[in-house]
Amino acid sequence: MDWGSLDQRIDEAAGRPALRDCNVLMIYPRFQANNFWNYSETCKLIGAHCPTSPLGLITVAAMLPANWNVRLVNRNSEDVTDEDFAWADMVMTGGMFNQQLDTLRLIKLAHQQGKPVVVGGPDATSSPHIYETADFRVLGEVEDIIARFIAAWNAGERCGSFTAEKFQVDVSKTLAPRFDLLKFDHYMYIGVQYSRGCPFTCEFCDIIELYGRVPRAKTPQQMLTELQALYDLGYRGHVDFVDDNLIGNRKSLRIFLPELIAWQQAHDYPFEFSTEASVNLADDHDLLQLMRKANFFALFVGIESPDPETLVHTRKKQNTRRNLAESIHKFYGAGMYVTAGFIVGFDTEKVSIADAMVELIEEAAIPAAMVGLLCALPNTQLTRRLEKEGRLHADYERWTDETGDQCALSLNFDSLRPERDILLDYRRILERTYNPAAYARRLHELVSKLNRADRPTDLAEGNRLRNVGLLELLSGIFRHVPEAREEFWNVIQNCRQSNPHALRYIVGLMALYVHLGPFSCFVIAEINRRIEALDDAVRPVAAGPAELARALA
Ligand code: SF4
Repeated sequence: MDWGSLDQRIDEAAGRPALRDCNVLMIYPRFQANNFWNYSETCKLIGAHCPTSPLGLITVAAMLPANWNVRLVNRNSEDVTDEDFAWADMVMTGGMFNQQLDTLRLIKLAHQQGKPVVVGGPDATSSPHIYETADFRVLGEVEDIIARFIAAWNAGERCGSFTAEKFQVDVSKTLAPRFDLLKFDHYMYIGVQYSRGCPFTCEFCDIIELYGRVPRAKTPQQMLTELQALYDLGYRGHVDFVDDNLIGNRKSLRIFLPELIAWQQAHDYPFEFSTEASVNLADDHDLLQLMRKANFFALFVGIESPDPETLVHTRKKQNTRRNLAESIHKFYGAGMYVTAGFIVGFDTEKVSIADAMVELIEEAAIPAAMVGLLCALPNTQLTRRLEKEGRLHADYERWTDETGDQCALSLNFDSLRPERDILLDYRRILERTYNPAAYARRLHELVSKLNRADRPTDLAEGNRLRNVGLLELLSGIFRHVPEAREEFWNVIQNCRQSNPHALRYIVGLMALYVHLGPFSCFVIAEINRRIEALDDAVRPVAAGPAELARALA
C-alpha cells in the first residue's frame, strides 16, 4: 500500500476528496499495576520508564493519511495532558486484556474532554461489547478496514463499527511502523513484528483465534527496512520480535535469518534480539544456529505444565514426548536464555502439581518462570468449552480489580479440583521458586549452560546500557533486594570466573529479580487473601448470646 493508492481508496469509498487535516491523539493504556511483565523498578535501574513500546498504535499510525497528524502518549511512561486532548480531533486507543480498565478510563476521559474515541486492539476484538461506549470500534487486523474508517470519518460520521475479515491481511504489504513517534529513552526494548499467527492449537490461547493458524510473514526486505529505520533514528540495543511464534513459518524464517545476519554484520551488530517460540525449536539445530548468529539472546517459551496428560488435554502436544528440561538446555547452548510460562489449575491436575513444577523449573534452570493461574481468556476454545459445561463465571472477561494481575486473579471458572487446593499449590510453587536462594541456584546453573562465546560482547555505540556501569547496576539491585545480596554476589563471582561472556545477561536477570521478588510476595499475599475468603465462606458463624437464647427457647 502506498499513500497514493490509500488516499484513492478513501476518496472512492467516501465519494469526495479526503484531504482534511486531522489531529489524532494515540494513547497506549496503562497495564495493570502489579503485573509479571510490568517491571518498572527494573527499568528504572537502567534509566528507562517501562519495558516496551506500543507497536500496534505506531503500526496503525503508518496507515493514516499523510495530512493526519499523530501524537503518541504511552500511559505506562508518561501522563496524557489536557493540552493533548485540546489538540486532538480524535483519540485512538486500545490494548490487551490487562489494559482493559485503563482503556475504559481513557474513553471516559476523552468524552469528558469532548473528543470522539476510536478503540481497537486484541481485547476490543475479543470482547467488543465491553467497549460499547467508544464512538468507533475497529476490530481485528486493521490493514484492510482502515480505509473504510478514514472514509467514514471524512464523510462526517462520528460513530461506527468496522470488523476485519479474519486472517485475511497480507502482512507482506503492511507498512513499516512509525518508529519516529517513539521516545526511545523511555523503553527497555523496542518491539517489531515479523509474523502473525501460530500453527498449534493450545486450548487456552487467544492468539490462534485472533491471528489464525496459518502464520503470515513479512518479507526479509520489509523487516530489514524496519530495522534500518530504527537504526537511522539512532536506536541501538534490544529489539524484541513480538511474534506469536517466531518459528510458525519456518520456511520463510530460514530465508529471512541469513539476510538478518548479513545486515547485523554489515552494521556491526547494533541490535540484540529476543522473541517467543514454541519448544519444538529445540529440535531444529540449524535454525538455532542461525538465530545465534543473528544475535538472539532471549526466548520466551510456553511450557505450561510438567504433566504429560495435562499437556495433551490442553492440546499442547508439541510439549509432549520430549524431555522439556533438555530442550530448554539446547536454547542455552545456542546462546539464548529462556523465560517460560507455567500454568496451574488445569482440569487434569488430579493431585498436587507443585513439586513436579518446581522440579522442572529447577532442572531446566529457568530463572524467570512466569507461573500463573489458569485464566479463561475471552475468545478461546477453553472459554467456549467451559461455557458449554456451565462453569464460566459471569464476569470472566472483565477486570474488576485495579491492582491485580492475571497471575493472582485468574481461575475465572469453576475448577474441577477444589479451588483451595489449586491456590495452595500455586502458593507453594511461588514460595519455592522466588526465594533468593532458589533464584540464585538457577542463575548458577544458567552460568554453566549459557553459551555466549563468540557472540559480540561490546555494546554498540549509542546503546543506553553503555552508560550503566556493572557496579552501579549491582548496587542498585542490592539496594532493592538486600536479602539476595550474598547469593547474587556468589553468582557474579562464579560467572566472572567460569563464563564471563554470560555476565551481562546474568546481571540482567538479577535486575529482573528486583521486580520478580517483591511481585511474587504480592501474589502470595493475594493468594492468602483468596484462601482466607474461601475458608470464611465455609466456617460456621459463632453464635452470640442472643442466638443461643433463641435456640434454647
Ligand atoms: S504455541 Fe503459543 S501461540 Fe501457539 S497456540 Fe500454543 S500458546 Fe498459542
